[in-house]
Amino acid sequence: MRQLILSDIHSNMEAFNACMLRAEGAGYDDVLCCGDIVGYGPNPNEAVDKVRELKAIAIRGNHDRVASGQDNADDFNAHAKAAAYWTRDALTEDRTQYLIDLPLGPYDLGGGAQLVHGAVTDEDDYIMSEVHAVESFELTDAHLTFFGHTHYPCVFSCDVDGNVILEIPKGADDLLAVDLKKNVQYMINPGSVGQPRDNDTRSAFAIWDVDRSRVEFHRVAYPYEVTQEKMRAAGLPQYLIDRLRFGR
Ligand code: ZN
Repeated sequence: MRQLILSDIHSNMEAFNACMLRAEGAGYDDVLCCGDIVGYGPNPNEAVDKVRELKAIAIRGNHDRVASGQDNADDFNAHAKAAAYWTRDALTEDRTQYLIDLPLGPYDLGGGAQLVHGAVTDEDDYIMSEVHAVESFELTDAHLTFFGHTHYPCVFSCDVDGNVILEIPKGADDLLAVDLKKNVQYMINPGSVGQPRDNDTRSAFAIWDVDRSRVEFHRVAYPYEVTQEKMRAAGLPQYLIDRLRFGR
């Protein structure tokens, strides 16, 4: 069984399509999504449609919450806020309802695995460092927690003695993999499909190979200039357009 793990798609169809093409080549069974299907990018309706078409098990992200009108954008910076309200206007009623109906994490996948968006009990909190990871490990017994929100591919592990280690699957290779050990807890971020922030413009996703106890981290180049052009035409903030070119 191979589970495709997507996160932070952010209405970027060029990136989403490139990831799906790669994932089809790599092989997968089910699709899981850690939230933020929309926000920032120019194609919110299309992104929702594709997640639905894939029959993904998806949870809500903070951008999905604001874009679907369940919350205001007071906690967002000016660029994210402008994009969130643009997205709210662009979404059709049907797609908005899909986002409203998304379950909140933690979402139990069975077998000791779960999905969250930000931290384990708060979709708005960031797991950026070992200190944050310790706080989240204390709140869960899950062997494997997939999370998003930071847009950084990474693996936090916690051994039986409570030692937390951060590994960053980073490099020029398109594919890197991490083997999962028994009796170790993991918090794993597949990276962001639609707005990578680790100084790498390539789109990111992961595949959890359940039978081999392994998580593969994939990176895929995509034509971000096309996304940028669409964002310009939509009048989305210049800062958000520029950051795709730097991957940050
Ligand atoms: Zn996000």
